[in-house]
Amino acid sequence: MECIFCSIVSGKIPADIVYRTDLVTAFRDINPVAPTHVLIVPNQHMLSTQDLSVEDTDVAGHMLLAAKEVAGLEGINDRGYRLIVNTGHDAHQEVHHLHIHVLGGRPMRHKLG
Ligand code: 5GP
Ligand code: ZN
Repeated sequence: MECIFCSIVSGKIPADIVYRTDLVTAFRDINPVAPTHVLIVPNQHMLSTQDLSVEDTDVAGHMLLAAKEVAGLEGINDRGYRLIVNTGHDAHQEVHHLHIHVLGGRPMRHKLG
């Protein structure tokens, strides 16, 4: 079975896409934990931050820039927001296609962890 986020990027399965470039796609999390909960993924499949190499510098940078764009589109740029990247077992990574969670629209409950 194909990776779920690759299927969203290719349009094979639907998602609420909020922002898209040649390199990255941003769409709403199916199970939001905050008023804004958007996932930013590279259009090209990669497993996690552990899969990144120096050739991916451009796409990695564009993922962060996309987070800023999404924050502006969602109107959470002034109040602030949190970016989370889960990598591997201990971080409870469930979908093995690199993604940044953009969380905002309410104060976060903990400083970290
Ligand atoms: P992880 O735990 O891997 O960092 O987060 C994976 C996230 O993907 C979860 O927050 C989960 O709700 C979200 N997710 C899983 N399957 C789908 C899906 O089919 N569509 C969307 N939009 N989000 C999904
Ligand atoms: Zn994928």
